[in-house]
Amino acid sequence: MAKLGRELAAKGVDVISLSLGETDFFTPQHVKQAAKEAIDQNYSYYTPVAGYPELRKAIAAKLKNENGLDYGFDQIVVSTGAKQSLANALMCLINPGDEVIIPTPYWVSYSELVKLAEGESVFIDATIESDFKITPEELEAAITPKSKVFMFSSPNNPTGYVYSYDELAALVKVLEKHPDIFIISDEIYEHINFLDRHVSIAEFESVKDRVIIINGLSKAYAMTGWRLGYSASNKEIAAACDKLQSQITSGTCSITQRAGVAAYEGGLESVREMKEVFLRRRDLVYGLLKDIDGLKVNLPDGAFYFFPDVSSFFGKTTADGQTIANADELALYLLNTSHVAVVSGDAFGDPKSIRISYAAADEKLIEACKRIKAGLSQLN
Ligand code: PLP
Repeated sequence: MAKLGRELAAKGVDVISLSLGETDFFTPQHVKQAAKEAIDQNYSYYTPVAGYPELRKAIAAKLKNENGLDYGFDQIVVSTGAKQSLANALMCLINPGDEVIIPTPYWVSYSELVKLAEGESVFIDATIESDFKITPEELEAAITPKSKVFMFSSPNNPTGYVYSYDELAALVKVLEKHPDIFIISDEIYEHINFLDRHVSIAEFESVKDRVIIINGLSKAYAMTGWRLGYSASNKEIAAACDKLQSQITSGTCSITQRAGVAAYEGGLESVREMKEVFLRRRDLVYGLLKDIDGLKVNLPDGAFYFFPDVSSFFGKTTADGQTIANADELALYLLNTSHVAVVSGDAFGDPKSIRISYAAADEKLIEACKRIKAGLSQLN
């Protein structure tokens, strides 16, 4: 959709893109400064595969100070992004035919990474009625003798749900009964969380040794292009990820790593400011989307997306006589008619919904919602 949106924009159409999964903020100044200094100080050589020790120590300190979690720096493996850390973990853990339990909707790459690792995805379908969260009973029902990994993100992309401590505790009770299942906890949206605090499933000592936390700089520090992610896990998994990564990418960019030290040691002020803006935008967009007839929308507690159910529009007809069959066609209709780019939920394993990102300026969000409302009201 982003590509189609750009093509339309290149033809002179005023397209508002709410399709991308990245913030519209700039990288904090002190982080950019550290990168400039790293260039001048000749940080230009290969780095240790798992990252500079000072960066891994800064990440371990972050996990202690922000999350109350004890990890040694040798349990941290820095990579070229949370995506690579997810890939590392899956490649190390999965043998052909192993099952990976993934609640839907899920981030697009999860199922593709499982395929690359020659595993089988087992989906648990969640709906807007349960705020897209799964119950302990649903998790239990998805477990088979082949289950190897349970993988989820909270705060979640694409739905914005956030698991509370009690909700995670209930899932942990199930996982305690199945000690052979590893847990990949994607916490990349940790800091865009409007609840009291972020809860990591690694806080539960009974499962901590089997948890692989995935996180990085992309969302919290507006650094998607810099490419830095990490995993925190037990030492055996960390050593395996290190070994695998050494044959694929080696250590991530030296300059980015030095910038990463500044980010993790530089305090959370920029992160808090960004969160305030996202909270304001969330409330703004929620008010506007709620006002659109036929759209079923929930109030997300984190990340920067809405994931409304648009199935009430399926079967309706456009002004030029085309019938909207599914979310893909609705997203295309909104692009071509309303000139707003959103993403079909199909990509996230939920063909009834669309994803609307609110990582855009207020005026754009207001105008986009106005256009979506007008476009949808023209369907008969
Ligand atoms: N996990 C989730 C849930 C995401 O939404 C994204 C990016 O959109 C990533 C991981 C990848 O992050 P990175 O840029 O660090 O590879």
